[in-house]
Amino acid sequence: MKVRSLAELAGIRLADTKIRGLGPKFAAALERAGIVTVADLLLHVPRRYIDRRRVEPIADLQVGDEVTVLGTVRSISSRRIRGARVLVEARVADESGSLRVTWFNQEYRVRQLPPGTEVALFGTVDSFRGRLQLTNPVTEPIRGELTKTGRLVPIYPSVSGVPTWRIQQWIEHALPHARPLVDPVPEAVRRRVGVVDRDRAIADIHFPDGEAAARQARARLVFDELFRLEVALALQKRRQIDEARGFAHPTRGPLVSAFLAGLPFDLTVAQRRVLDEIEADLAMEHPMHRLLQGDVGSGKTVVAVAALLTGVDGGWQGAVMAPTEVLAAQHYLAIRDLLDLAGLTPPEIGEGERLGMGSLFGGDEGPAVRLALLTGAQVAANFCPGARREDVLAWIADGTVDLVVGTHALIQEGVGFARLGVAVVDEQHRFGALQRATLRDKATEIDPDLLIMTATPIPRTLSMTLYGDLEVSVLDELPPGRTPIETKALSRTEEEAAWETVRRAVAEGRQAFVVCPLVDDSPKVEAASATAEFERLQTVFPDLRLGLIHGQLPPREKEEVMAAFRAGHVDVLVATTVIEVGIDVPNATVIVIEDADRFGLSQLHQLRGRVGRGRHPGMCILLADPATAEGRARIDAMVATTDGFVLAEEDLRIRGQGTVFGARQSGMGDLRLADILSDFEVLVEARREAFALVESDPHLERHPELATEVRRMLGDAVEWLFVS
Ligand code: ADP
Ligand code: MG
Repeated sequence: MKVRSLAELAGIRLADTKIRGLGPKFAAALERAGIVTVADLLLHVPRRYIDRRRVEPIADLQVGDEVTVLGTVRSISSRRIRGARVLVEARVADESGSLRVTWFNQEYRVRQLPPGTEVALFGTVDSFRGRLQLTNPVTEPIRGELTKTGRLVPIYPSVSGVPTWRIQQWIEHALPHARPLVDPVPEAVRRRVGVVDRDRAIADIHFPDGEAAARQARARLVFDELFRLEVALALQKRRQIDEARGFAHPTRGPLVSAFLAGLPFDLTVAQRRVLDEIEADLAMEHPMHRLLQGDVGSGKTVVAVAALLTGVDGGWQGAVMAPTEVLAAQHYLAIRDLLDLAGLTPPEIGEGERLGMGSLFGGDEGPAVRLALLTGAQVAANFCPGARREDVLAWIADGTVDLVVGTHALIQEGVGFARLGVAVVDEQHRFGALQRATLRDKATEIDPDLLIMTATPIPRTLSMTLYGDLEVSVLDELPPGRTPIETKALSRTEEEAAWETVRRAVAEGRQAFVVCPLVDDSPKVEAASATAEFERLQTVFPDLRLGLIHGQLPPREKEEVMAAFRAGHVDVLVATTVIEVGIDVPNATVIVIEDADRFGLSQLHQLRGRVGRGRHPGMCILLADPATAEGRARIDAMVATTDGFVLAEEDLRIRGQGTVFGARQSGMGDLRLADILSDFEVLVEARREAFALVESDPHLERHPELATEVRRMLGDAVEWLFVS
C-alpha cells in the first residue's frame, strides 16, 4: 500500500480528483474558502461533534435542561416585533413530539431552514405560555450526517455554497485514499510531547470513537501547526547564522562613555540591562538581530543612540530608519539634543566641504558626532546649517556623516554608505514579517548590527512566533518621576467637562491634543472632517491658539504645524491619528479622543502615550458612547490599565489572532486550529523541539519529509528559506 504524505496531498488539487459528488461548481466554492487541495480538505476539521447518545427525544425535555435536539423543521416564519427586532419562529419535530423554537434578529434562518430541513439544536429548554421551547439555540442544519453510525457526528464549519453534510461525505470518501499517512515528526519528539501519530490524528479528528480520541487528534494537529512554524523560524535563524558576515564592535569607547556621562539623568535599571544585552551582541562577530520593546516613554532612544555610537566609536556609520517623515525629523531633533547635552556637538563646516573619515579623526576639537537628517521633504545636518541634499548624500558616501536619520523607504532604497555598522529600525507599531529584508552594506559586504524598536508591547506569545528569529529585549520600567496618566471615559453629552479640562491645562501653561473621530471612508474625507472639527472647536475655545494637522497636508506644512506646537505657539492641536506614533512634546498634558470607541486598543494606547511625557501628569479623556460591546470593552480596558502589555493581550483576546497581523506574510496563515494564546504551552514545547531538531540537523537533510512539509504548508512565506 502506498504511504502518502500531507505535503504530497497539499499538491493535489481537489478539482483534479474524482471524489464522488465533488464537481467543478463545488470545487470552485471550496476554493473561494481557501480549500484548494486534498490536504486542505482533510484539515478542514469539525467545529463540533454531536454526541448521539446525548440527544434527547423532544417528549422527554424539561425546563432548564441543557440539551441537544435532532429534528425536522415543520414550519418557519418571521415577523417584526417591538424595537425594530425580528422574531423567527419555527416548529421542529422528532418521532416523539414537537417543539417551538425562536430566534431573535436572525431572519436568515427562514431561508436556511425551509420546512423539511433536518436540524441539530443545542440550548437550554425554557417555557412560553406553559409550552416548552428553545430560544436562540445554537443551530446546525445537518441532513446526511444523521445516517452515520458513529457515536460522534462531525459538524463542519460552513463553506458558502456547500452544504456541510457534503463536506462530510467528501472527507469520508477521500480518507481511505489518503491513508496511511506518513509522520514527518520524529518518533522521539512525538513521545516527548505525548502526541498521537499523524495518521491516527487525521482519521480521528473527523470520525472519533469518543471525546478522548477527538481531543488527542486535535492536540496533535495543533502541535503540527506550531511545530511547522517554529521549524521555519529555526531554519531562518540558522540561515542567518550561516550567511551573516558581521563585525565585532569594541564596546564602551570614548563616544559612548561621553554620551552616557553627559545625560542629565541616570539610566533606569531596565535601560542599563538592555544596553548590556545590546553591547554583548555588538561585541560578537555575528550581527545583532534584536527587537527592543518598550512602552511609549520608556526611553528607547537613549539606548538606541548608545548602540549607534558604539559603532561610530570604531569608525562605522549608523542609520536610524523611521516609519514617517515627521518621526524621522523628530528623531533627528531628539538625537541632536542628546548629543548637545553630552558635549558631542561638532564644529560647523561650510556647504560642500569635506572632512574625511570619521569624527574621531576629523580634527583636534575633541570627540564629536556628525548627524544628518535625510527624508523626501527635509535635509539637515548638525554640523552645517545650510546643508543641501547633494552634500548630505556625498557626506554619507565618504564617511563624513556618522549618523543618518531617514525614513525606511529612503534608506532601504540604498543610500550609499561608506561603512554602515549599526542600523536602528523604528517600526513603531508595525509588526514585522517572517521574512525580513536584510540590510547588507554594499561597500563592505558586511551585515550591519540591527536593532528593531517597537513601541507596541507585543505579548510574549506573539513575539515568540512572529519574531522567532530575533532576540528580544524589553524596557519594562518608566524613568522615575512620571505620574501615571489618568484616563477618564465621558459620554459625548459631557464633552463640556473635557473642554474645561483643556482650558485649565492651557491656563497653567500646558498644551493639549484633540483627536478627531476616525473616518473610515478615505483620508480625504477624514481630513475634511478634521477641518470641520477644527472650525467647530474655534468657537469652543475662542481665546486659545488652535492648530490643525492631518494626513492630507503636505509634509512641509505638517512639519511647520508640529514645529509651532513644539515651540509652544499652539495651545491645542486638533489632529487625526497622524499624531499616533512617537510625537514627543513633553509640555502637552491633556489628550481628548473623540468617539474613542471607534479606535483600536493599540491605537488608543499609542495616542494616550502622547501625554504624560514630561514632569507634568498626563490626562486622557475618552469621549464615547460605545455602540458595540467591543467598543465598550476597549474603553473599559483603557480606563482600567496603562500597562501596554496587559492591553496588548486584551487586544489579542478581543480581536483574535488572525486580524493582528498580515496572516500570509507572517506564516500565520497555516494556523487553522492553533490559538497562540490558549495553546501557548504547546507553542513553547513546539519551539523547543523545533530549535533542537534544527540545531542537530541544520538543513533538515535527515528529515526530508519535514523539510518538504514546511515548505509546502507554509507556502510563499518560507519559500525563500529553501533557495540556496
Ligand atoms: P520612547 O522612544 O521609548 O517612547 P524616549 O526615548 O523618547 O522614549 O524617552 C522619553 C523621554 O524620557 C525623553 O524625553 C527622554 O529624554 C526621557 N528619558 C529617557 N531615559 C530617561 C531616564 N533614564 N531618566 C529620565 N528621563 C529619561
Ligand atoms: Mg556584531
